[in-house]
Amino acid sequence: MSNPFSYPTTPHVRKHGPAGYREWENYRPWLRDEFDFRCVYCLCREKWGRRRSSWVVEHLVPREKAQHLALEYSNLVYACSSCNSAKSAKWVPDPCQHAYGQLVYVTNDGKIHAKNADGRKFIRTLALDEDDLTNYREMWLHILQSWKKHEPERYRQCMSFPDNLPDLTQKIPPNNTKPEGANNCCYQQRKQNKLPEIYG
Ligand SMILES: [Zn+2]
Repeated sequence: MSNPFSYPTTPHVRKHGPAGYREWENYRPWLRDEFDFRCVYCLCREKWGRRRSSWVVEHLVPREKAQHLALEYSNLVYACSSCNSAKSAKWVPDPCQHAYGQLVYVTNDGKIHAKNADGRKFIRTLALDEDDLTNYREMWLHILQSWKKHEPERYRQCMSFPDNLPDLTQKIPPNNTKPEGANNCCYQQRKQNKLPEIYG
């Protein structure tokens, strides 16, 4: 089974470059698509419902510290609100500069482990080793393993992209440094039958 809690082993390369919005909420559909409809920090997916609450447009460098970056796409990621509140105004590495898979890994019991000092800091800052999240990961790993074997359709459902994909070709930002990215959004890929059924 592909492990849904496998962190990327290479830094994320942004495929979209919207710019010029006056509200960061306008970046939400871009960020959902950009970061595969899951929290960039804990890898929980929209598709799995909510752990404690919902999803936010997250500022890597907090607004309090750099107001001028508040509407910069390169400073925005997609996160669950549990991670957002754990991070608060603290610093975490930019996933586009540091592969989180070089910092941490998750084992089948749901536990997260640090690979180095930066990984320990990453875990601590985001409270990624708190019991409720460890149990949540363990539960999903167990369920998915069982469904993969006995209920493949449910497994596919849980490992697939959400139904409500945003069609980014219909969202025209004031500026866009990567306009070709919208044609390649998940919505368009699904329309052309190119979107993988599941992603790991
Ligand atoms: Zn999270």
